[in-house]
Amino acid sequence: MFEALADRLEGAWKKLRGQDKISEANIQEALREVRRALLEADVNLQVVKDFVAEVQEKALGAEVISGVRPDQQFIKIVHDQLVEVMGETNVPLAEAESAPTIVLMAGLQGTGKTTATAKLALHLRKQNRSTLLVATDVYRPAAIDQLITLGKQINVPVFELGTDANPVEIARQGVAKAREDGINTVIIDTAGRLQIDEDMMDELAQIKDTVQPHEVLLVVDAMTGQEAASLTRTFHDRIGITGAILTKLDGDTRGGAALSVRQISGQPIKFVGVGEKVEALQPFYPDRMASRILGMGDVLTLVEKAQEEVGIAEAEKLQEKILNAQFDFDDFLKQTRLLKAMGSLGGIMKMIPGLNKISSEQLEQGEVQLKRAEAMINSMTREERKNPDLLSSSPSRRRRIAKGAGYGLDDVSKLVSDFQKMRSLMQQMGQGQMPGMGLPGMG
Ligand code: GDP
Repeated sequence: MFEALADRLEGAWKKLRGQDKISEANIQEALREVRRALLEADVNLQVVKDFVAEVQEKALGAEVISGVRPDQQFIKIVHDQLVEVMGETNVPLAEAESAPTIVLMAGLQGTGKTTATAKLALHLRKQNRSTLLVATDVYRPAAIDQLITLGKQINVPVFELGTDANPVEIARQGVAKAREDGINTVIIDTAGRLQIDEDMMDELAQIKDTVQPHEVLLVVDAMTGQEAASLTRTFHDRIGITGAILTKLDGDTRGGAALSVRQISGQPIKFVGVGEKVEALQPFYPDRMASRILGMGDVLTLVEKAQEEVGIAEAEKLQEKILNAQFDFDDFLKQTRLLKAMGSLGGIMKMIPGLNKISSEQLEQGEVQLKRAEAMINSMTREERKNPDLLSSSPSRRRRIAKGAGYGLDDVSKLVSDFQKMRSLMQQMGQGQMPGMGLPGMG
């Protein structure tokens, strides 16, 4: 497996013990480690070169921050640069002003294009966007069947005209049908070949010209590594993509393809596929991917960050509150923010021995739950946050919060009862032995 870049950099700087700031001379070894780690993470060579040059420039120009070791500062520069290249924030799927939004799926065979088509439909349903799937891969009857099966599974209609029709015509009629039926988004699955092929490109270009899609999403298999770069260049030059979906990130890859795709096309990765199931699609978050590519962090940095963020005094105050069952929603928010400040939940889990086997789906769920909880707490009044018991006795308060946060009454009730349970559990734990700062899993 990969050695975490963070560890390697530490090693590189150790050799230069006694040097307390980044300089032209001492930075070379660290840059070599970045280069090696990125290549191992399957980032394309040219992309790596550009990236390293940029990091060097930024690192040399960086102000020395007192109290921060140069290796820490350097890692932060690398991390930030990764995030910058990958696009800073998540870019959602476009939505046309007048329906239907037209999405064209492109990519090689076997990358997960058909699966991603269905995944996307399911994802859009959660935003109350109806979809129609269009099957234009007339070369492989199995491909049409596959889309029909997936459509049934998620209860989304599939438009197809069999294997004798012209793919461009199928796409055109599919869009017309979506418009007629008042469908929000039409997703066109197209034929893929095992390799880039002129006929395939021609056909894709024709479909694009005909239906004028709002999105052309290139589906890239994260496992293809280095090849992701040339693939992206070819599709982008020839067809013009508006974004990408990176699939099979659940596999044993650091995801360096993400960097290549973005750097080469300038277009954002919008989603990642993390499994074979139709539910296994997540929005792409550049900062999480940066941490993954770097294999960043260890328990030590985690602790340092935590201390920076809360301060010892604050942690002790929190501890006392827990012991006296005074822990309230404000404290809960503080902890949530602390978790966030330390990076994604996934990143934190990875740092804790024994917890790194938790599946990415479980992690995602945990993060979603934290976000929901935060939204609901933000809809509470000051008084309610300080005194959670107010909520257990008042359905009307819970209803108001549910409305404000955009969730159901059940969700708020569950949060309140979970919170009460957590509080009494913490209290029990506190009376026994206090785990660190009271953060679950950090003892
Ligand atoms: P297409 O030829 O590009 O349409 O690819 P398919 O959608 O048929 O997918 C090819 C294979 O990859 C199938 O076995 C899928 O189950 C699998 N697959 C697709 N997406 C993912 C993913 O995100 N993770 C994993 N592990 N497998 C995936």
